[in-house]
Amino acid sequence: MRTVTLHPDQIYTGPLILVNARHPLRDPVQPYLVPPDSRYPQITMERQAARLLSAALQAADPDGAIVPVSGWRSQAQQQAIWDDTLKTEGEVFTRQYVALPGCSEHQTGLAMDLALAAPEIDFIRPHFPQDGVCGLFRQLAARYGFVQRYRRHKEPLTGIAEEPWHFRYVGVPHARLMEENDLCLEEYRDFVRGNRPVCRLENGQTAQVTYLLCPQEPWDIPLPDGRCQISGDNVAGFFLTVWRDIP
Ligand SMILES: [Zn+2]
Repeated sequence: MRTVTLHPDQIYTGPLILVNARHPLRDPVQPYLVPPDSRYPQITMERQAARLLSAALQAADPDGAIVPVSGWRSQAQQQAIWDDTLKTEGEVFTRQYVALPGCSEHQTGLAMDLALAAPEIDFIRPHFPQDGVCGLFRQLAARYGFVQRYRRHKEPLTGIAEEPWHFRYVGVPHARLMEENDLCLEEYRDFVRGNRPVCRLENGQTAQVTYLLCPQEPWDIPLPDGRCQISGDNVAGFFLTVWRDIP
């Protein structure tokens, strides 16, 4: 059996990191960034997230009516957005719709704000309706590993108002498990710890997710055969995902 050595500081990296006001981004390494839409080369995301967003947009919206508005942001850019919004919209609005600098998912490279193309696009609250191509994208998003991150009924948990335009890459099968069980990322860790869920995938495989609490020291863990992925949670441990063929 293979083993892998996990280091305590690895809990701050990976596609499942929870970044919010209580859990600031801790990984100082800027991700490898690429644009998901070649029409907007300055709007970028982490490479794998960009590849899958591109595929989801191609499937839902081949004519390109959906446009990216804001992807990866540096700390300085997030600070500037915070300062500008505070100045023009006031504190209540800013706290509802703009994450504190250092606590924004946009700084991970795993989030993208999307809009329906229009002559004027609101940068802080882009229009991304429930119907038409945007609705179709929403239906397909989980299949490509994306979730609508901020929903109205989860506001007490996320601390952010509903944002129909903000999509977060978590990967398959996590997006499907979150969607099917009505979970936000704040709830996902406890769900996985309690359930060790198994997801049946469209390609005929299953994916099982387990949670591992990280000890203080580097730690060797055995890996089962087959494809495995380990992601930190930015809180206290790791998600281990194992893909298996269904016999
Ligand atoms: Zn956003």
